[in-house]
Amino acid sequence: MDLRAHLLALLAPHRVGDPLIPGVVIAGASTELGLRLKFEVDGQPLWVDVDPLSRVERYAARSERLAFGYRTEGERQSLDPQLGRRICEATAALARANEGRVLAAVEEERVELPDRELRVRRVTTDALLERTGVGGVDFYTLSPYVGCVIGCKFCYAQVKVGAMRELLRLPQLPWGSYVDARVNAHEVVARELAALPVLPIKFCPVVSDPYQALERRERLTRRCLEAIRDAPRVWPTLLLTRSSLVLDDLALLAQLPRAQAGVSIPTIDDDVRARFEPRAAPIPARLEILAALRRAGVPSIAVVQPLLSGSVDALADALAERADSVSIDILRGELGAAEEFARPEFRESSTDRWQRDRARALAEALARRGVPVWSTELPPAFMPGLDPAAPR
Ligand code: SF4
Repeated sequence: MDLRAHLLALLAPHRVGDPLIPGVVIAGASTELGLRLKFEVDGQPLWVDVDPLSRVERYAARSERLAFGYRTEGERQSLDPQLGRRICEATAALARANEGRVLAAVEEERVELPDRELRVRRVTTDALLERTGVGGVDFYTLSPYVGCVIGCKFCYAQVKVGAMRELLRLPQLPWGSYVDARVNAHEVVARELAALPVLPIKFCPVVSDPYQALERRERLTRRCLEAIRDAPRVWPTLLLTRSSLVLDDLALLAQLPRAQAGVSIPTIDDDVRARFEPRAAPIPARLEILAALRRAGVPSIAVVQPLLSGSVDALADALAERADSVSIDILRGELGAAEEFARPEFRESSTDRWQRDRARALAEALARRGVPVWSTELPPAFMPGLDPAAPR
């Protein structure tokens, strides 16, 4: 089922490239982080989230069964809220006329699955590389899986992937217990690499981990990396994980001429990690991944997001020894970790103030140790203008 086509059908008779309202052009649809329609406003992307009405309390506009809210790319650009609301209202007005037909088509294409296949669905896709960009830096996202059985409690993909499953009338299962494997991912990506302009590729930015346990059986991430390696043009590639399974592909990563890889690591304290990310690799194992990447000649990166309790200096020491650069970002909502954050020892750490103070302290500690820190979507080596070898 091509959910993107169904999303765009909500806007019929308008199509991609048509104006929605004056100054706002329909640019596409995405299922990479929930269901979203993409518009362009003055050349800048603007996303409209499409959610089943039953799942959201706040929205800018609604149709009979769907809710619409807007956000800018990475929520880093400002937008006149009145314009955002007008875009959502225009979207909702079109959806009101189309949603009966669109939702009936989704229902018609739905395949009944036996219970044992509801958690791990093997699906096909007809598009994989999704162009996105913040502040003039464009890149592609690549997700061979949607959903994640690592199941970090704070993972913000759970809201969006859950909404998508509701629309597909799949049972609502706890986050961390279901995943879709896009079994033809490598074939689709090989085709796209031959046709699309070269930009950096970012593996599994939000909706899944490229090395969750299913990869051991499916090897979709490996096969996508092989397609990138075998492509006639060089594709800068960034890959992040919370799993030691990436070590199986060290040699392959080293064969990519412009790959950087690394781990997300929110704390140096493995007891804290175990509370919030119980099925992810322990902290010592993640540090070993960074060291192994370096030994293999692959530039190693660490992403600290969100920030969790633990010694700042010990984390900075450990990263300074093993990571070539570090990205820092704050918590985006407690979500499934509310119970953990309610514990006295973690209560303060979910506040915006604690997160920002901790981010600043860690950035300073890393700077004192000479470690480059970045807060953009891509590491400096992939940013035009910051690195002489960066793609144009
Ligand atoms: S590994 Fe990443 S995608 Fe998977 S649950 Fe954790 S934060 Fe979410």
